[in-house]
Amino acid sequence: MNIGTLLTKSARTYPRNLAVACGPRRWTYARFNERVNRLAHAFGRLGVGHGDHVAILMQNLPEMLESIFACFKAGAAAVPINFRLHANEYAFVIDHSESELVVISAEFNAPISQIRDRLPRVRHIVTIADAHEGILDYETLIRAESAGFDDADVNPDDVAWVFYTSGTTAQPKGALLTHRNLLAMTMNFYSDICQGFGPDDVALHAAPLSHGSGLYALPNVGKAAANIIPETVSFDVEKILEAIEKYGVTNMFAAPTMVKRMAESPALHGFDLRSLKILNYGGGPMLAEDLRVAIEKLGPCLVQLYGQGESPMTITFLPHRDHVLNGTPQQMKRLSSVGYARTDVEIRILDREDFELPSGDIGQIVTRSDLVMKGYWRNPEATAAALKDGWLHTGDVGYMDEDGYVFLLDRSKDLIISGGENIYPREIEEVLIRHPAVFEVAVIGVPHPEWGEAVKAVVVKAPGRDVSGEELIDFCKGRIASFKKPGSVDFIEELPKNNYGKVVKNVIRAPYWGGRESRVI
Ligand code: AMP
Repeated sequence: MNIGTLLTKSARTYPRNLAVACGPRRWTYARFNERVNRLAHAFGRLGVGHGDHVAILMQNLPEMLESIFACFKAGAAAVPINFRLHANEYAFVIDHSESELVVISAEFNAPISQIRDRLPRVRHIVTIADAHEGILDYETLIRAESAGFDDADVNPDDVAWVFYTSGTTAQPKGALLTHRNLLAMTMNFYSDICQGFGPDDVALHAAPLSHGSGLYALPNVGKAAANIIPETVSFDVEKILEAIEKYGVTNMFAAPTMVKRMAESPALHGFDLRSLKILNYGGGPMLAEDLRVAIEKLGPCLVQLYGQGESPMTITFLPHRDHVLNGTPQQMKRLSSVGYARTDVEIRILDREDFELPSGDIGQIVTRSDLVMKGYWRNPEATAAALKDGWLHTGDVGYMDEDGYVFLLDRSKDLIISGGENIYPREIEEVLIRHPAVFEVAVIGVPHPEWGEAVKAVVVKAPGRDVSGEELIDFCKGRIASFKKPGSVDFIEELPKNNYGKVVKNVIRAPYWGGRESRVI
């Protein structure tokens, strides 16, 4: 099925349901579908159709969802781009994806015009406001078209979304997600993350629509649920809490850093959040201590996901019932896991030669399912390295316990090798975050003349608290093997994070390695 047909069907069955709301703009499913149909026609008139790529560069706005669904319906592939990227980065993605059409929001009108000569393949730019010479006006285009559209008859393995990785260590890669992948992701959301999800549900898009939150618009649209898009561009905790209460939000996706900020916000108790059934978090590590606080403060709504662009939002999950604070030691340990394989997903742990390891042994996490991408766009080497015999090699290191729970230790590139010992920073971070004076922590490897690498903790102190490096190193004694405890601690104001709120360890490491990457990369 064309993944865009999710919208066609919802508009037929629930035409009056609220589809998208952003400030004063509120569109029913009938209106949303009609606008998407008109846009799909407009794409055709501009010469864009089956198999073509359309770059979409805009803030979280209803037009972002319209453009994505218009691509699906037209049989083209959407290339959503994070609006916080630097001009060089989005220029790379637009050019590399070979997009001939770019849809932008108004703040990109001038910047795109300035780099136009670096985008030789782009034939048309469409803006949603303030069009000027050389740029087409979105509303004018869609007004000229008819409201009915026959969704393109696609092959399930045709590409629907080109998902560019964040590219913190190399050029971003475009993971090719097919209609089959996105439909499997959608069905899995209903089966594992949010059972009973339906037309009365209300989802809040607090994270960028170019990434996880946009992917989750698909299950929302498939069940005619409402998509609420906050008007604020940055993640403003109070505004998010206010929106949950105001709209009766039942469901949202957030990065772990956002969950931490919500749980620790002094404003939390001023709002009624009882409608929130699912606070689905993931995309980066959630330390067990932070999770404990979140469970205490936010109650039973938490569900963790582990996924990556190459297997969108879907590899494992830690369900509601594992988010308890009064369980057995085994149950408590699960709070530091990423849960178990999703219903229609297989997982194995492999050694360096790709042999399967028994329970408890540490190796690379690999996965196989209908979720796994088709490959990377125009990158056969990276595709061959990532996909072997149908198994996606995630680049994540971890182990699976006897009960099938997966413990993700780190990205393989974040592993520290000190004196021949493998040290997983997450294990040390889990200890240090328990110190009351530690607000955030990242453990990294730094050069050491004898051991190759030494363990360093980079710490953000909790507001109003003080602590010395020696005290923190002492705190690790008795809680962790001696060779793992940090040799040194540095303090900084804030951990650097990427546009999705993920801590970027390569940026933290860089100054210690004289600007070059560590040797384990
Ligand atoms: P991206 O493709 O940008 O979504 O990044 C995917 C990567 O984020 C994964 O390969 C993991 O390293 C990390 N990640 C995703 N979910 C989790 C999670 N629940 N816990 C720890 N790391 C995660």
